[in-house]
Amino acid sequence: MADLLLFWHRRDLRLGDNVGLAAARDRTPQVVGVFCLDPDILGNGDVAPARVAYMIGCLEKLQDSYAQAGGQLLILQGDPRAQIPALAKALAADAVYWNRDVEPYSRQRDTAVVEALKEAGIEFRTTFWDQLLHEPGDIRTGAGDPYTVYTPFWRNWVKRSKAAPLPTPEGLKSLTAHQVKAAKQAGCIDLPSPADLGFGWENGFPVEPGEQGALERLEEFCDGSQAIEGYDEQRNFPFVDGTSRLSAALKFGAVGIRTVWAAAEAAYGRSRSDETRNNVQTWQQELAWREFYQHVMYFFPELADGPYRQPLKDFPWDNNDDHFAAWCEGRTGYPIVDAAMRQLNEIGWMHNRCRMIVASFLTKDLIINWQWGEKYFMQHLVDGDLSANNGGWQWSASSGMDPKPLRIFNPASQAQKFDAEAEYIRQWVPELRSLDTGALVTGKIRERDRGDYPAPIVDHKIQQALFKDKYKAQRG
Ligand SMILES: Cc1cc2nc3c(=O)[nH]c(=O)nc-3n(C[C@H](O)[C@H](O)[C@H](O)COP(=O)(O)OP(=O)(O)OC[C@H]3O[C@@H](n4cnc5c(N)ncnc54)[C@H](O)[C@@H]3O)c2cc1C
Repeated sequence: MADLLLFWHRRDLRLGDNVGLAAARDRTPQVVGVFCLDPDILGNGDVAPARVAYMIGCLEKLQDSYAQAGGQLLILQGDPRAQIPALAKALAADAVYWNRDVEPYSRQRDTAVVEALKEAGIEFRTTFWDQLLHEPGDIRTGAGDPYTVYTPFWRNWVKRSKAAPLPTPEGLKSLTAHQVKAAKQAGCIDLPSPADLGFGWENGFPVEPGEQGALERLEEFCDGSQAIEGYDEQRNFPFVDGTSRLSAALKFGAVGIRTVWAAAEAAYGRSRSDETRNNVQTWQQELAWREFYQHVMYFFPELADGPYRQPLKDFPWDNNDDHFAAWCEGRTGYPIVDAAMRQLNEIGWMHNRCRMIVASFLTKDLIINWQWGEKYFMQHLVDGDLSANNGGWQWSASSGMDPKPLRIFNPASQAQKFDAEAEYIRQWVPELRSLDTGALVTGKIRERDRGDYPAPIVDHKIQQALFKDKYKAQRG
């Protein structure tokens, strides 16, 4: 009898270009997929309805893909430390395979699952790195240490050759009726809806859930619309659809990173000018930022718990609850900040330029602990990802691994530069739609024009001076 392998999907919700799954299929056609809805993650208070809905959408599509390939994706709900070994036992699986992850929680959980499998005498293969082009430890400084600064990391990272996309497994074998019964007895359930899990979401997604949707968006960005060729100029304007919007697909592995890289390389190859090549390379640098933050999370897991840099440890934050509520609701009286927060609240996604603006505003203008913002983002972002989110917040808060740490954004200058016609502000703060562009971008709105829209809750000049004083005092 051929081996039966259980392949545990986590943040690799696709069949194609999947390192661990391809290895499992190389061993046997009897590969059974499984996904476990983990209450420790779904109940940890940091979960965005948009993200759960996107994930469930991806799982639905993955079940279809398995069925088309002749196989099955099973769904469990409960503690994977108990559920995965129990299912493996019930199916008399010869081994369990999965792709590795960098996050502290995932690593602890995986160690516990490995222990349970060992105890049950079930083989496991868990050495695959799927979500990164280069695994942690591959890219090191001359002294052999992990990088803590992005630019030298990027130089080293980009010159390494990258693996090609892997084929989609075919000809999988289905479970027998007897095995299906055993799987049910071991706790397998039908895929619940987001609402069943307590996370209703009706507001759509920046990219269609599932492998096909991600591949189509990638194709559109790199080849169809060729937006990648204008990325360097267009990516900073929040009203322009100039970025890939693939972040949720990358977070959940709806598309393989090797496939993404190959599409970017093809666009680079098609480029006819240095300018176009430069645009493509700027996008590749973003993919490297993603990997940089995952590598540092792997080597410095303490980043997940707080600031990296000394001056920001025990920082005397103001932490005013009313100011925080105004920031969350998009009612700070700073139109560009409010537009961005309302975009997040409404569609579960925010443009990168605006993520930087609102993060700077929360930390430097409202002098609120960046970890409050980090949490709020995780509670709302469809692409919420520990490594990227923590990296972005620590960068914005001047608490991270940044050689030029003290940066403070002036909301008015940012709006003047990146939303000069106030189109983004008008889209997301409709009550201000009829006002002059000048008033919207500077935020200098006359009392009588304001209606219900609030006056600025703080003064940028005063607050940035205050922040600098506190920062200097901390540095001693
Ligand atoms: C405060 C803050 C919080 C953030 N939180 C997250 C988060 O939770 N999840 C997340 O995926 N990104 C996060 N980012 C990074 C970035 O804003 C998003 O990845 C990007 O806006 C997603 O849009 P896109 O897919 O169109 O990106 P594109 O511009 O098309 O970039 C391509 C891909 O590169 C990656 N990427 C781009 N910029 C970054 C970056 N600065 N850091 C890490 N990866 C990057 C993403 O996977 C993205 O999909 C955050 C940035 C900041 C400043």
